[in-house]
Amino acid sequence: MSNYHPDPQWADNLIQSLPQGIITIEESGQIVFLNRAAEHITGWTMAEALGKSINQVLPLATAKEQFLEHLTHATAIPPINAVNRQGRDVTLSITATNLEAANGAHQTVLVIRDVTTEDAAQRLRTYFLANISHEFRTPLSALKASVELLLEGVDGFTLNETLELVRSIHFSVTSLQTLVDNLLESVSIEAGRFRIRRRSTDLSVLVTEASTLMKPLLERRNQTLITHLPDQLPQISVDPMRLTQVLVNLLSNASKYGPTDEPIELALVLQQDDTLKISVSDRGSGIPAEDKENIFRRFIRLDEKDNAQYGIGLGLSVVKTIVESHGGTVGLEERPGGGSIFWFTIPLGEA
Ligand code: ADP
Repeated sequence: MSNYHPDPQWADNLIQSLPQGIITIEESGQIVFLNRAAEHITGWTMAEALGKSINQVLPLATAKEQFLEHLTHATAIPPINAVNRQGRDVTLSITATNLEAANGAHQTVLVIRDVTTEDAAQRLRTYFLANISHEFRTPLSALKASVELLLEGVDGFTLNETLELVRSIHFSVTSLQTLVDNLLESVSIEAGRFRIRRRSTDLSVLVTEASTLMKPLLERRNQTLITHLPDQLPQISVDPMRLTQVLVNLLSNASKYGPTDEPIELALVLQQDDTLKISVSDRGSGIPAEDKENIFRRFIRLDEKDNAQYGIGLGLSVVKTIVESHGGTVGLEERPGGGSIFWFTIPLGEA
């Protein structure tokens, strides 16, 4: 006990220095005390919050319920989604204990931990794990079925039937390869290990490679690829594998989210400012203006529920990182007549 210091100033300093928010309320819900961390979490200062209801200082994100109802109905309080004074959504983990105040009145002490970041990370992980198994299972099942058919009946198949099965295998393998490439890039981006390896490259070769990789996907949806290349394309210094991946991601999206039987266009244009602009145009449903900024972030998928296409929302974030590592920019536009134009630029620099 020799180190214990019961002086009130010391106790006050202790409470103020806690990283957890401490709020004490009366039975009516009126606030009696807020420490510094609670001021930070709620956005209210102690002087402003004093005497106000906790319902007002910490409104829940879903307006149906109020903080106090939540508190009294639950024994173990699950994380609460609230909105702080600045309008920021916060997820709070709260423990409540009883406190006998000096005048004999009953108060409740709320010990609050801001778990917004942990909660968001946890949700991303759950979402990711739920989707990734599906993403692998779909092409793997198709692959297995085609290989089994081939093994069972290879003698009796016509050349065309065999070709059809091999095409299906090629399609599944391409889907798996794109998925694995995006996953690997994403992991190295997150770990801060992402680096590009530049080499003097002939872009028309990359365009041919990307078109070959895309073939099974396009054939399946009866789409053709129309390419527009400038007459003279200089050699440029880029990471050829990564740039092919950018093209494949944008072309796959144009194919997936565009209608069947409609061509997709890929255009390379040399610009005045010594950059090369590469754009992929489709006739899909387009991207609403309010989503244009967000769409390049990880795990963002639009209309998740009625989105008939599989995906995990990694492709465009990988595209953005690769392009920006080359000193370029990404963007998208509405396409006249309907659809989207996803584009990126690459500085020509030195070959
Ligand atoms: P994924 O396709 O795996 O979901 P992306 O990062 O490539 O991941 O794309 C994110 C989201 O952007 C898609 O889920 C889709 O909602 C939307 N999107 C991407 N490209 C297009 C496009 N060409 N047309 C319409 N929507 C698109």
